[in-house]
Amino acid sequence: MTAGHPSLPHRQPSAPGTLVWLRRELRTHDLPALQAAVARGGPVVPVYVHGPDAEHGDWPPGAASRWWLHHSLVALQRETAALGSPLVVRAGDTVASLRRLLHDTGADRVHFTARAEPAAQTLEAAVLAALPARSFPGDELWSSAHIRTASGGPYRVFTPFSRRCLAAEAPTAPLTAPASLTPPATPAASVAIDRLGLLPTIPWDHGLAATWTPGAAAGRAALTRWITGETLARYDRGRDTPEGTSALSAHLAFGEISVRAAWWAVNQRLAVDGAASAGLMAWRRQLIWREFARHLLRHFPHTVSAPLQPRYDGFPWRRDPELLRRWQRGQTGFPYVDAAQRVLWHTGWTPNRARMVTASFLVKDGLVSWLEGARWFWDTLVDADLANNTLGWQWAGGCGADAAPFFRVFNPTTQGRRHDPTGAFIRAWVPELRDMPDVHDPWRKAPVLAAATGYATPVVDHAVARLRALDTWRSTAT
Ligand SMILES: Cc1cc2nc3c(=O)[nH]c(=O)nc-3n(C[C@H](O)[C@H](O)[C@H](O)COP(=O)(O)OP(=O)(O)OC[C@H]3O[C@@H](n4cnc5c(N)ncnc54)[C@H](O)[C@@H]3O)c2cc1C
Repeated sequence: MTAGHPSLPHRQPSAPGTLVWLRRELRTHDLPALQAAVARGGPVVPVYVHGPDAEHGDWPPGAASRWWLHHSLVALQRETAALGSPLVVRAGDTVASLRRLLHDTGADRVHFTARAEPAAQTLEAAVLAALPARSFPGDELWSSAHIRTASGGPYRVFTPFSRRCLAAEAPTAPLTAPASLTPPATPAASVAIDRLGLLPTIPWDHGLAATWTPGAAAGRAALTRWITGETLARYDRGRDTPEGTSALSAHLAFGEISVRAAWWAVNQRLAVDGAASAGLMAWRRQLIWREFARHLLRHFPHTVSAPLQPRYDGFPWRRDPELLRRWQRGQTGFPYVDAAQRVLWHTGWTPNRARMVTASFLVKDGLVSWLEGARWFWDTLVDADLANNTLGWQWAGGCGADAAPFFRVFNPTTQGRRHDPTGAFIRAWVPELRDMPDVHDPWRKAPVLAAATGYATPVVDHAVARLRALDTWRSTAT
């Protein structure tokens, strides 16, 4: 047969090889950067460069995130080894590390997934300038270039943003993982994951280990369970209860599951399960909130450390180390807030409603800056995500996009009664109160009993703190 015979597919010569630089897309499923590397032919080398400062700027991963990252990298190394080309880990300057790995493996290109965080974008620009590199989507459902207001600007309000997303071209189907990866001719040296120092030296992480299984395989299994389960069908009504949500946030934050896979999975059920549509649509909406958080971070990168609304720049936050410390430790004397803070400390996660109430407590009752709260969450959450955390805290602080109006000051006791009506959440995490007849308001309902339990006394008088917050906001921000 002669070359070019029509029955023979035209074969491109294999590429010398591609590095797939992974950051918070710790998966092989639905990863366009990886798919394109495989399509080029030749060796494919997944690589993680441990250079937290360059990658994360002022927000290097906190203690709980580092714990998750360690286990996620171990899982990914196992998964990629099974495909034929194990994850290579390097430490140090990212551009220098990638350049050296190009040299070591003979690869001629770097693929990576574009991210919304400002420091990550600066690093991407440096990689693109210094190396033969290409950027791919993979962390967002829609390209931010397409989601613009009628005047071409960014959105600051969720509802029109969401409407615009839903009117845009639908996200395409998720990609399957490659069947195999061709390794480089000579295996590249890799730093042992244990050597990255991600795990705590004092073993405080037993609560995390007992609660979570990091890694893409565990993430995919959790997504399937959630999508096929009954809690999702009730999500519109149950999402404010501690067990009413997916708990997929850390898998999404580390890119172990793609947001597109989550979007597709919920849409598939939506197509066949009309009875569950209210719950399914409500959950899908949360994925658009995630998208909105990324949109805001891309367009307003200063918001990682300053309010979106400039009129809050000089807000007279109080410095109150004692209140902050008691809030961090779950010793405020407000049971729902304390349960929220203790479950966070113990498991690295707390439900969304509890996040809203405890954030409001710090910011409104304590008049302590939202940034103090954001930093604490950053260190303690396994799902710490700069876009979502910034959005959440600026919402609580009344200074972000679609923020809570300043006059909305959550009553932590009423919120507890409403969203933990049986008190099971409080009893589980504030054991001092386990035998109290009214766990929501121990100091008013049974002060002698409460004192006998040793439970913390209230760090503020909520009624007084509420008035102080209203006065401060009214005089500063209106
Ligand atoms: C003060 C504050 C700080 C927060 N910090 C973070 C954070 O660091 N990381 C984080 O992932 N989320 C954060 N959130 C948003 C939200 O609380 C969590 O995403 C949610 O509790 C995770 O639980 P889940 O996976 O069960 O969510 P589900 O209710 O099952 O929602 C599914 C997914 O949608 C996304 N999502 C849900 N709610 C929001 C939201 N309000 N904003 C943006 N995305 C959302 C998440 O990726 C979540 O996993 C914060 C919220 C507040 C009020």
